[in-house]
Amino acid sequence: MKEKWSYSESVESSEIVNLESKYGHFIDGAFVSPKSKKYFETLSPSTEEVLSKVSFGGKADVDYAVNAAKEGFKTWKKVKPVDRSKYLFKIARLIQERSREFAVLESMDGGKPIKESRDVDLPQVAANFFYFAGWADKIELSWGNNNLKPYGVAGQIIPWNFPLLMLAWKVAPALATGNSVVLKPAETTPLTALLFSEICVEAGLPPGVFNLVTGNGETGSYLVNHDDVNKIAFTGSTNVGKQIQSSLAGTEKGLTLELGGKAANIVYEDAAIDQAVEGVVNGIFFNQGHVCCAGSRLLVQESIEDEFIAKLERRMQQLRVGNPLDKNTDIGAINSKQQLEKITDLVHSGVNEGGTIFQTECELPGNGFWFKPTLFTKVQPAYRIAREEIFGPVLTTISFRTPEEAVEIANNTEYGLSAGIWSEKGSKILWTADKLDAGVVWSNTFNKFDPASPFGGYKESGFGREGGRHGLLSYLKESR
Ligand code: NAP
Ligand code: MG
Repeated sequence: MKEKWSYSESVESSEIVNLESKYGHFIDGAFVSPKSKKYFETLSPSTEEVLSKVSFGGKADVDYAVNAAKEGFKTWKKVKPVDRSKYLFKIARLIQERSREFAVLESMDGGKPIKESRDVDLPQVAANFFYFAGWADKIELSWGNNNLKPYGVAGQIIPWNFPLLMLAWKVAPALATGNSVVLKPAETTPLTALLFSEICVEAGLPPGVFNLVTGNGETGSYLVNHDDVNKIAFTGSTNVGKQIQSSLAGTEKGLTLELGGKAANIVYEDAAIDQAVEGVVNGIFFNQGHVCCAGSRLLVQESIEDEFIAKLERRMQQLRVGNPLDKNTDIGAINSKQQLEKITDLVHSGVNEGGTIFQTECELPGNGFWFKPTLFTKVQPAYRIAREEIFGPVLTTISFRTPEEAVEIANNTEYGLSAGIWSEKGSKILWTADKLDAGVVWSNTFNKFDPASPFGGYKESGFGREGGRHGLLSYLKESR
Protein backbone atom coordinates (compact mmCIF):
# COMPACT_ATOMS: atom_id res chain seq x y z
CA MET A 1 0.00 0.00 0.00
CA LYS A 2 1.31 3.43 -0.90
CA GLU A 3 1.62 5.89 1.96
CA LYS A 4 1.89 9.62 1.38
CA TRP A 5 3.78 11.84 3.76
CA SER A 6 3.20 15.55 3.63
CA TYR A 7 5.74 17.94 5.04
CA SER A 8 6.78 21.57 4.72
CA GLU A 9 9.98 22.49 3.00
CA SER A 10 12.84 23.51 5.25
CA VAL A 11 15.49 24.87 2.95
CA GLU A 12 18.95 25.73 4.22
CA SER A 13 19.90 29.23 3.06
CA SER A 14 22.71 29.44 0.54
CA GLU A 15 23.48 33.04 1.54
CA ILE A 16 26.36 31.87 3.71
CA VAL A 17 28.25 30.91 0.54
CA ASN A 18 30.13 33.66 -1.32
CA LEU A 19 30.94 32.48 -4.79
CA GLU A 20 33.42 34.26 -7.04
CA SER A 21 32.54 34.40 -10.74
CA LYS A 22 35.78 32.56 -11.50
CA TYR A 23 38.62 30.90 -9.62
CA GLY A 24 42.34 30.48 -10.24
CA HIS A 25 44.43 27.50 -9.16
CA PHE A 26 45.89 27.66 -5.65
CA ILE A 27 49.67 27.44 -6.05
CA ASP A 28 52.51 28.52 -3.77
CA GLY A 29 50.14 30.00 -1.21
CA ALA A 30 48.07 32.17 -3.59
CA PHE A 31 45.27 31.98 -6.14
CA VAL A 32 46.77 32.32 -9.63
CA SER A 33 45.28 32.64 -13.11
CA PRO A 34 45.67 29.53 -15.27
CA LYS A 35 48.62 29.49 -17.64
CA SER A 36 46.31 27.54 -19.97
CA LYS A 37 44.10 30.68 -20.06
CA LYS A 38 41.13 28.28 -20.07
CA TYR A 39 38.23 28.05 -17.63
CA PHE A 40 35.34 25.58 -17.34
CA GLU A 41 31.97 25.78 -15.62
CA THR A 42 30.84 23.92 -12.55
CA LEU A 43 27.08 23.37 -12.27
CA SER A 44 24.63 22.69 -9.54
CA PRO A 45 23.32 19.25 -10.57
CA SER A 46 19.97 19.95 -8.88
CA THR A 47 19.19 23.09 -10.93
CA GLU A 48 21.70 22.94 -13.84
CA GLU A 49 22.57 26.54 -12.90
CA VAL A 50 26.22 27.55 -13.48
CA LEU A 51 27.73 28.21 -10.05
CA SER A 52 31.13 29.50 -11.14
CA LYS A 53 34.02 29.04 -13.55
CA VAL A 54 37.20 27.32 -12.50
CA SER A 55 40.62 27.14 -14.10
CA PHE A 56 41.60 24.36 -16.45
CA GLY A 57 44.95 22.89 -15.46
CA GLY A 58 47.14 22.36 -18.50
CA LYS A 59 50.68 20.97 -18.48
CA ALA A 60 52.25 24.36 -17.62
CA ASP A 61 49.88 24.74 -14.65
CA VAL A 62 50.76 21.28 -13.33
CA ASP A 63 54.49 22.06 -13.81
CA TYR A 64 54.07 25.27 -11.85
CA ALA A 65 52.21 23.51 -9.00
CA VAL A 66 54.71 20.63 -8.80
CA ASN A 67 57.65 23.07 -8.69
CA ALA A 68 55.93 24.99 -5.90
CA ALA A 69 55.35 21.70 -4.05
CA LYS A 70 59.04 20.77 -4.46
CA GLU A 71 60.02 24.00 -2.75
CA GLY A 72 57.18 23.55 -0.26
CA PHE A 73 58.57 20.13 0.67
CA LYS A 74 61.98 21.66 1.50
CA THR A 75 60.26 24.07 3.90
CA TRP A 76 57.85 21.51 5.34
CA LYS A 77 60.48 18.92 6.16
CA LYS A 78 62.31 21.48 8.29
CA VAL A 79 59.15 22.19 10.31
CA LYS A 80 59.31 20.21 13.56
CA PRO A 81 56.70 17.40 13.74
CA VAL A 82 55.12 19.01 16.79
CA ASP A 83 54.64 22.21 14.78
CA ARG A 84 53.20 20.27 11.83
CA SER A 85 50.62 19.04 14.33
CA LYS A 86 49.73 22.60 15.25
CA TYR A 87 49.05 23.59 11.63
CA LEU A 88 46.82 20.55 11.17
CA PHE A 89 44.93 21.23 14.41
CA LYS A 90 44.42 24.80 13.23
CA ILE A 91 43.07 23.61 9.87
CA ALA A 92 40.70 21.20 11.68
CA ARG A 93 39.41 24.00 13.93
CA LEU A 94 38.91 26.39 11.01
CA ILE A 95 36.96 23.73 9.11
CA GLN A 96 34.71 23.27 12.13
CA GLU A 97 34.16 27.03 12.39
CA ARG A 98 33.15 27.27 8.73
CA SER A 99 31.41 23.92 8.66
CA ARG A 100 27.97 25.22 7.61
CA GLU A 101 29.46 27.17 4.72
CA PHE A 102 31.37 24.09 3.54
CA ALA A 103 28.29 21.85 3.90
CA VAL A 104 26.03 24.18 1.89
CA LEU A 105 28.66 24.57 -0.83
CA GLU A 106 29.21 20.80 -1.00
CA SER A 107 25.47 20.22 -1.50
CA MET A 108 25.22 22.98 -4.12
CA ASP A 109 28.17 21.81 -6.21
CA GLY A 110 27.68 18.05 -5.91
CA GLY A 111 23.93 17.53 -5.25
CA LYS A 112 24.13 15.59 -1.98
CA PRO A 113 21.46 16.20 0.71
CA ILE A 114 22.39 18.87 3.23
CA LYS A 115 21.64 16.53 6.12
CA GLU A 116 24.45 14.30 4.88
CA SER A 117 27.00 17.01 4.06
CA ARG A 118 26.21 18.69 7.40
CA ASP A 119 26.03 15.57 9.61
CA VAL A 120 28.37 13.11 7.91
CA ASP A 121 30.85 14.70 5.46
CA LEU A 122 31.86 17.78 7.45
CA PRO A 123 32.19 16.11 10.89
CA GLN A 124 34.27 13.38 9.22
CA VAL A 125 36.44 15.95 7.42
CA ALA A 126 37.27 17.71 10.69
CA ALA A 127 37.76 14.37 12.48
CA ASN A 128 40.35 13.30 9.89
CA PHE A 129 42.37 16.49 10.32
CA PHE A 130 42.19 16.17 14.13
CA TYR A 131 43.16 12.50 13.99
CA PHE A 132 46.20 12.98 11.74
CA ALA A 133 47.20 16.17 13.57
CA GLY A 134 47.58 13.97 16.64
CA TRP A 135 49.84 11.57 14.72
CA ALA A 136 52.30 14.10 13.24
CA ASP A 137 54.67 14.15 16.20
CA LYS A 138 54.37 10.44 17.05
CA ILE A 139 55.42 8.88 13.78
CA GLU A 140 59.14 8.48 14.48
CA LEU A 141 58.47 6.64 17.73
CA SER A 142 55.67 4.47 16.49
CA TRP A 143 57.54 2.08 14.25
CA GLY A 144 60.57 1.68 16.48
CA ASN A 145 62.98 3.05 13.89
CA ASN A 146 63.48 6.33 12.15
CA ASN A 147 64.05 4.94 8.67
CA LEU A 148 60.61 5.94 7.47
CA LYS A 149 60.67 9.17 5.49
CA PRO A 150 58.09 11.15 3.53
CA TYR A 151 58.09 10.63 -0.24
CA GLY A 152 58.36 14.35 -1.07
CA VAL A 153 55.70 15.65 -3.47
CA ALA A 154 52.42 13.73 -3.28
CA GLY A 155 50.09 14.02 -6.29
CA GLN A 156 46.53 13.34 -5.19
CA ILE A 157 43.53 12.77 -7.47
CA ILE A 158 40.02 12.51 -6.07
CA PRO A 159 36.46 11.80 -7.31
CA TRP A 160 33.21 13.74 -7.02
CA ASN A 161 31.17 11.66 -4.59
CA PHE A 162 32.71 12.94 -1.33
CA PRO A 163 34.76 15.89 -2.60
CA LEU A 164 35.90 17.44 0.67
CA LEU A 165 36.02 14.16 2.60
CA MET A 166 38.27 12.55 -0.03
CA LEU A 167 40.46 15.67 0.17
CA ALA A 168 40.70 15.20 3.95
CA TRP A 169 41.48 11.46 3.63
CA LYS A 170 44.36 12.36 1.35
CA VAL A 171 45.70 15.74 2.49
CA ALA A 172 45.67 15.16 6.27
CA PRO A 173 47.91 12.03 6.34
CA ALA A 174 50.18 13.40 3.58
CA LEU A 175 50.89 16.61 5.51
CA ALA A 176 51.13 14.82 8.87
CA THR A 177 53.89 12.60 7.50
CA GLY A 178 55.79 15.58 6.07
CA ASN A 179 54.94 15.41 2.36
CA SER A 180 53.83 18.38 0.30
CA VAL A 181 50.76 18.07 -1.91
CA VAL A 182 49.38 18.83 -5.36
CA LEU A 183 45.68 17.95 -5.38
CA LYS A 184 43.43 17.56 -8.43
CA PRO A 185 39.73 17.52 -7.49
CA ALA A 186 37.03 16.13 -9.80
CA GLU A 187 35.81 18.28 -12.66
CA THR A 188 32.21 18.51 -11.38
CA THR A 189 33.00 19.29 -7.72
CA PRO A 190 35.98 21.64 -7.33
CA LEU A 191 34.42 24.33 -5.13
CA THR A 192 34.94 22.99 -1.59
CA ALA A 193 38.60 22.24 -2.39
CA LEU A 194 38.97 25.88 -3.46
CA LEU A 195 37.40 27.00 -0.17
CA PHE A 196 39.78 24.66 1.66
CA SER A 197 42.67 26.55 0.02
CA GLU A 198 41.45 29.70 1.79
CA ILE A 199 41.60 27.79 5.07
CA CYS A 200 45.25 26.92 4.39
CA VAL A 201 46.01 30.64 4.00
CA GLU A 202 44.09 31.43 7.19
CA ALA A 203 45.99 28.71 9.06
CA GLY A 204 49.30 30.25 7.93
CA LEU A 205 50.42 27.03 6.20
CA PRO A 206 53.76 27.79 4.50
CA PRO A 207 53.38 28.46 0.72
CA GLY A 208 53.84 25.44 -1.53
CA VAL A 209 52.91 22.85 1.11
CA PHE A 210 49.36 22.46 -0.24
CA ASN A 211 48.67 23.22 -3.92
CA LEU A 212 45.48 22.77 -5.90
CA VAL A 213 45.10 22.47 -9.66
CA THR A 214 41.56 22.19 -11.01
CA GLY A 215 40.84 20.46 -14.30
CA ASN A 216 39.79 17.15 -15.82
CA GLY A 217 41.35 13.75 -16.51
CA GLU A 218 43.97 15.33 -18.77
CA THR A 219 45.13 17.48 -15.83
CA GLY A 220 45.22 14.35 -13.68
CA SER A 221 47.39 12.52 -16.19
CA TYR A 222 49.94 15.40 -16.27
CA LEU A 223 50.21 15.06 -12.52
CA VAL A 224 50.57 11.26 -12.65
CA ASN A 225 53.32 11.46 -15.27
CA HIS A 226 55.29 14.38 -13.81
CA ASP A 227 58.87 13.34 -13.06
CA ASP A 228 59.06 15.36 -9.85
CA VAL A 229 56.00 13.79 -8.26
CA ASN A 230 57.16 11.08 -5.85
CA LYS A 231 53.88 9.50 -4.82
CA ILE A 232 50.44 9.19 -6.42
CA ALA A 233 47.32 8.64 -4.34
CA PHE A 234 44.28 8.03 -6.52
CA THR A 235 40.63 7.46 -5.69
CA GLY A 236 38.32 6.84 -8.61
CA SER A 237 37.27 4.24 -11.14
CA THR A 238 39.03 0.93 -11.68
CA ASN A 239 39.61 1.75 -15.37
CA VAL A 240 41.52 4.95 -14.67
CA GLY A 241 43.29 3.25 -11.75
CA LYS A 242 44.59 0.56 -14.15
CA GLN A 243 45.84 3.20 -16.58
CA ILE A 244 47.67 4.99 -13.77
CA GLN A 245 49.22 1.75 -12.54
CA SER A 246 50.57 0.95 -15.98
CA SER A 247 51.94 4.50 -16.46
CA LEU A 248 53.82 4.23 -13.17
CA ALA A 249 55.19 0.73 -13.76
CA GLY A 250 58.99 0.85 -13.75
CA THR A 251 59.17 4.20 -11.95
CA GLU A 252 60.07 4.65 -8.29
CA LYS A 253 56.86 6.53 -7.52
CA GLY A 254 54.74 5.27 -4.64
CA LEU A 255 51.14 4.40 -5.51
CA THR A 256 47.90 3.78 -3.67
CA LEU A 257 44.67 3.04 -5.52
CA GLU A 258 41.21 3.28 -3.96
CA LEU A 259 38.87 2.04 -6.66
CA GLY A 260 35.35 0.77 -7.21
CA GLY A 261 33.19 -1.76 -5.39
CA LYS A 262 30.12 -3.97 -5.65
CA ALA A 263 29.49 -4.86 -2.04
CA ALA A 264 27.23 -7.65 -0.85
CA ASN A 265 24.90 -6.85 2.04
CA ILE A 266 23.98 -10.30 3.37
CA VAL A 267 20.74 -10.67 5.34
CA TYR A 268 20.32 -14.00 7.17
CA GLU A 269 16.91 -15.33 8.22
CA ASP A 270 17.74 -14.75 11.89
CA ALA A 271 18.45 -11.02 11.42
CA ALA A 272 16.39 -8.33 13.16
CA ILE A 273 14.36 -7.60 10.04
CA ASP A 274 13.35 -3.98 10.63
CA GLN A 275 16.87 -2.93 11.56
CA ALA A 276 18.23 -4.78 8.55
CA VAL A 277 15.78 -2.95 6.27
CA GLU A 278 17.06 0.39 7.63
CA GLY A 279 20.65 -0.74 7.17
CA VAL A 280 20.07 -1.93 3.61
CA VAL A 281 18.37 1.40 2.77
CA ASN A 282 21.28 3.33 4.25
CA GLY A 283 23.74 1.02 2.52
CA ILE A 284 22.49 1.81 -0.98
CA PHE A 285 20.60 5.12 -0.87
CA PHE A 286 23.09 7.15 1.19
CA ASN A 287 24.61 9.83 -1.06
CA GLN A 288 22.37 8.70 -4.01
CA GLY A 289 24.33 5.46 -4.06
CA HIS A 290 27.42 7.36 -5.25
CA VAL A 291 29.48 5.44 -2.72
CA CYS A 292 32.38 3.13 -3.56
CA CYS A 293 31.54 0.87 -0.61
CA ALA A 294 27.73 1.01 -1.17
CA GLY A 295 25.83 -2.18 -0.32
CA SER A 296 24.66 -2.47 -3.90
CA ARG A 297 23.99 -6.22 -3.93
CA LEU A 298 21.37 -7.36 -1.43
CA LEU A 299 21.83 -11.06 -0.65
CA VAL A 300 18.75 -12.20 1.24
CA GLN A 301 18.04 -15.68 2.59
CA GLU A 302 15.25 -17.31 0.61
CA SER A 303 13.10 -18.13 3.69
CA ILE A 304 12.57 -14.41 4.48
CA GLU A 305 12.83 -12.98 0.98
CA ASP A 306 9.14 -12.12 0.45
CA GLU A 307 8.70 -10.51 3.86
CA PHE A 308 11.97 -8.60 3.56
CA ILE A 309 11.28 -7.26 0.07
CA ALA A 310 7.75 -6.14 1.06
CA LYS A 311 9.14 -4.20 4.03
CA LEU A 312 11.96 -2.77 1.96
CA GLU A 313 9.61 -1.50 -0.76
CA ARG A 314 7.36 0.08 1.87
CA ARG A 315 10.35 1.84 3.44
CA MET A 316 11.66 2.98 0.05
CA GLN A 317 8.33 4.70 -0.70
CA GLN A 318 9.06 7.00 2.23
CA LEU A 319 12.37 8.27 0.85
CA ARG A 320 12.18 11.94 -0.08
CA VAL A 321 13.91 12.82 -3.32
CA GLY A 322 14.51 16.47 -4.17
CA ASN A 323 16.27 19.75 -3.39
CA PRO A 324 19.59 18.89 -1.73
CA LEU A 325 19.35 22.02 0.43
CA ASP A 326 16.01 20.94 1.91
CA LYS A 327 16.73 19.46 5.35
CA ASN A 328 14.02 16.82 4.75
CA THR A 329 15.67 15.44 1.64
CA ASP A 330 16.94 11.85 1.79
CA ILE A 331 18.11 11.57 -1.81
CA GLY A 332 19.52 14.55 -3.70
CA ALA A 333 20.57 15.02 -7.31
CA ILE A 334 22.67 12.67 -9.40
CA ASN A 335 26.07 14.32 -9.67
CA SER A 336 26.15 14.86 -13.44
CA LYS A 337 24.28 14.24 -16.68
CA GLN A 338 26.94 11.73 -17.65
CA GLN A 339 26.46 9.73 -14.44
CA LEU A 340 22.67 9.83 -14.91
CA GLU A 341 23.11 8.36 -18.40
CA LYS A 342 25.33 5.59 -17.03
CA ILE A 343 22.78 4.67 -14.34
CA THR A 344 19.90 4.79 -16.83
CA ASP A 345 21.75 2.55 -19.26
CA LEU A 346 22.54 -0.07 -16.60
CA VAL A 347 18.95 -0.04 -15.32
CA HIS A 348 17.68 -0.63 -18.88
CA SER A 349 20.06 -3.56 -19.18
CA GLY A 350 18.65 -5.00 -15.94
CA VAL A 351 15.10 -4.87 -17.32
CA ASN A 352 16.17 -6.29 -20.68
CA GLU A 353 18.06 -9.16 -19.08
CA GLY A 354 14.94 -10.17 -17.14
CA GLY A 355 15.14 -8.54 -13.68
CA THR A 356 11.94 -7.39 -11.96
CA ILE A 357 12.10 -3.64 -11.35
CA PHE A 358 10.43 -1.63 -8.58
CA GLN A 359 10.73 2.17 -8.47
CA THR A 360 9.19 4.48 -5.90
CA GLU A 361 6.32 6.75 -6.85
CA CYS A 362 8.06 10.02 -5.93
CA GLU A 363 7.83 13.07 -8.17
CA LEU A 364 11.12 14.26 -9.59
CA PRO A 365 11.94 17.99 -9.99
CA GLY A 366 11.85 19.42 -13.55
CA ASN A 367 15.41 20.69 -13.91
CA GLY A 368 18.53 18.89 -12.77
CA PHE A 369 19.58 15.23 -12.78
CA TRP A 370 17.47 12.78 -10.81
CA PHE A 371 16.87 9.06 -10.49
CA LYS A 372 14.10 7.29 -8.58
CA PRO A 373 15.12 4.87 -5.82
CA THR A 374 15.15 1.52 -7.61
CA LEU A 375 15.09 -2.11 -6.52
CA PHE A 376 15.64 -5.13 -8.71
CA THR A 377 14.52 -8.60 -7.67
CA LYS A 378 14.81 -11.92 -9.51
CA VAL A 379 18.33 -11.00 -10.56
CA GLN A 380 20.75 -13.65 -11.79
CA PRO A 381 24.42 -13.25 -10.78
CA ALA A 382 25.40 -13.01 -14.46
CA TYR A 383 23.33 -9.88 -15.18
CA ARG A 384 25.28 -6.65 -15.73
CA ILE A 385 23.44 -5.00 -12.79
CA ALA A 386 24.75 -7.76 -10.53
CA ARG A 387 28.33 -7.41 -11.72
CA GLU A 388 29.00 -3.77 -12.69
CA GLU A 389 29.22 -0.83 -10.33
CA ILE A 390 26.10 1.29 -10.98
CA PHE A 391 27.10 4.09 -8.58
CA GLY A 392 23.50 5.25 -8.25
CA PRO A 393 20.36 4.62 -6.13
CA VAL A 394 19.84 1.12 -7.53
CA LEU A 395 19.82 -2.06 -5.46
CA THR A 396 19.92 -5.57 -6.93
CA THR A 397 18.65 -8.57 -5.00
CA ILE A 398 19.86 -12.14 -5.21
CA SER A 399 18.53 -14.80 -2.86
CA PHE A 400 20.53 -17.61 -1.25
CA ARG A 401 19.72 -20.76 0.74
CA THR A 402 22.79 -21.51 2.87
CA PRO A 403 25.60 -19.44 4.43
CA GLU A 404 28.08 -21.21 2.11
CA GLU A 405 26.08 -20.09 -0.90
CA ALA A 406 25.88 -16.51 0.46
CA VAL A 407 29.68 -16.36 0.76
CA GLU A 408 30.14 -17.81 -2.71
CA ILE A 409 27.84 -15.23 -4.32
CA ALA A 410 29.30 -12.37 -2.24
CA ASN A 411 32.85 -13.21 -3.37
CA ASN A 412 31.83 -13.80 -6.98
CA THR A 413 32.90 -10.33 -8.09
CA GLU A 414 36.05 -8.70 -9.38
CA TYR A 415 35.82 -6.17 -6.55
CA GLY A 416 36.63 -6.53 -2.85
CA LEU A 417 36.04 -3.28 -1.02
CA SER A 418 33.32 -3.83 1.57
CA ALA A 419 30.48 -6.09 2.74
CA GLY A 420 27.68 -6.19 5.32
CA ILE A 421 26.28 -9.06 7.41
CA TRP A 422 22.94 -9.01 9.22
CA SER A 423 22.35 -11.75 11.83
CA GLU A 424 21.57 -12.03 15.53
CA LYS A 425 24.18 -14.81 15.85
CA GLY A 426 27.70 -13.61 16.63
CA SER A 427 29.29 -16.89 15.58
CA LYS A 428 27.60 -16.76 12.18
CA ILE A 429 28.79 -13.18 11.68
CA LEU A 430 32.38 -14.13 12.51
CA TRP A 431 32.25 -17.25 10.32
CA THR A 432 30.96 -15.18 7.38
CA ALA A 433 33.29 -12.20 7.86
CA ASP A 434 36.26 -14.53 7.90
CA LYS A 435 35.37 -15.87 4.46
CA LEU A 436 34.55 -12.61 2.69
CA ASP A 437 37.17 -11.04 0.40
CA ALA A 438 36.49 -7.45 1.44
CA GLY A 439 38.62 -4.71 2.97
CA VAL A 440 35.84 -3.61 5.34
CA VAL A 441 33.09 -5.84 6.75
CA TRP A 442 30.27 -4.26 8.76
CA SER A 443 27.95 -6.35 10.91
CA ASN A 444 24.44 -5.19 11.80
CA THR A 445 25.33 -1.75 10.48
CA PHE A 446 26.66 -0.24 7.25
CA ASN A 447 28.62 2.76 5.93
CA LYS A 448 30.22 3.61 9.26
CA PHE A 449 33.56 5.43 9.08
CA ASP A 450 36.22 6.35 11.58
CA PRO A 451 39.53 8.07 10.80
CA ALA A 452 41.29 5.58 13.08
CA SER A 453 40.07 2.61 11.04
CA PRO A 454 41.92 1.63 7.86
CA PHE A 455 39.85 1.58 4.67
CA GLY A 456 40.74 0.02 1.33
CA GLY A 457 40.17 -2.90 -0.97
CA TYR A 458 41.26 -6.21 -2.40
CA LYS A 459 41.25 -7.41 -6.00
CA GLU A 460 40.12 -4.72 -8.46
CA SER A 461 39.09 -2.40 -5.63
CA GLY A 462 42.73 -1.33 -5.35
CA PHE A 463 45.56 -1.52 -2.85
CA GLY A 464 46.94 0.51 0.02
CA ARG A 465 44.94 1.71 2.99
CA GLU A 466 43.63 5.10 4.03
CA GLY A 467 42.93 5.94 7.65
CA GLY A 468 44.49 4.73 10.87
CA ARG A 469 48.10 3.79 11.35
CA HIS A 470 48.07 1.92 8.04
CA GLY A 471 47.07 5.15 6.27
CA LEU A 472 50.25 6.85 7.47
CA LEU A 473 52.40 4.13 5.94
CA SER A 474 50.93 4.95 2.53
CA TYR A 475 52.84 8.25 2.72
CA LEU A 476 56.13 6.96 4.16
CA LYS A 477 58.90 5.00 2.49
CA GLU A 478 61.85 3.08 3.87
CA SER A 479 65.12 4.90 3.47
CA ARG A 480 68.51 3.51 4.39
P1 NAP B 1 37.22 8.59 -12.39
O1 NAP B 1 36.62 8.92 -13.68
O2 NAP B 1 38.25 7.54 -12.32
O3 NAP B 1 37.80 9.98 -11.83
C1 NAP B 1 38.46 10.11 -10.60
C2 NAP B 1 39.43 11.27 -10.69
O4 NAP B 1 40.44 10.98 -11.64
C3 NAP B 1 38.81 12.58 -11.16
O5 NAP B 1 39.45 13.66 -10.52
C4 NAP B 1 39.10 12.55 -12.63
O6 NAP B 1 39.03 13.79 -13.26
C5 NAP B 1 40.50 11.98 -12.64
N1 NAP B 1 40.92 11.34 -13.88
C6 NAP B 1 40.15 10.91 -14.92
N2 NAP B 1 40.93 10.35 -15.87
C7 NAP B 1 42.21 10.43 -15.44
C8 NAP B 1 43.46 10.02 -15.98
N3 NAP B 1 43.56 9.40 -17.15
N4 NAP B 1 44.58 10.24 -15.26
C9 NAP B 1 44.52 10.83 -14.04
N5 NAP B 1 43.35 11.26 -13.49
C10 NAP B 1 42.22 11.05 -14.17
O7 NAP B 1 36.15 8.19 -11.33
P2 NAP B 1 34.74 8.86 -11.06
O8 NAP B 1 33.77 8.24 -11.97
O9 NAP B 1 34.87 10.33 -11.04
O10 NAP B 1 34.50 8.41 -9.56
C11 NAP B 1 33.75 7.32 -9.22
C12 NAP B 1 34.63 6.11 -8.93
O11 NAP B 1 35.43 6.34 -7.78
C13 NAP B 1 33.81 4.90 -8.63
O12 NAP B 1 34.30 3.79 -9.32
C14 NAP B 1 34.01 4.71 -7.13
O13 NAP B 1 33.83 3.42 -6.68
C15 NAP B 1 35.38 5.22 -6.91
N6 NAP B 1 35.58 5.61 -5.51
C16 NAP B 1 36.38 4.82 -4.73
C17 NAP B 1 36.58 5.13 -3.39
C18 NAP B 1 37.46 4.27 -2.51
O14 NAP B 1 37.86 4.72 -1.46
N7 NAP B 1 37.77 3.05 -2.91
C19 NAP B 1 35.98 6.27 -2.85
C20 NAP B 1 35.17 7.05 -3.67
C21 NAP B 1 34.98 6.71 -5.00
P3 NAP B 1 37.58 14.24 -13.85
O15 NAP B 1 36.70 14.49 -12.71
O16 NAP B 1 37.82 15.46 -14.60
O17 NAP B 1 37.11 13.11 -14.71
MG1 MG C 1 29.33 20.98 -9.76
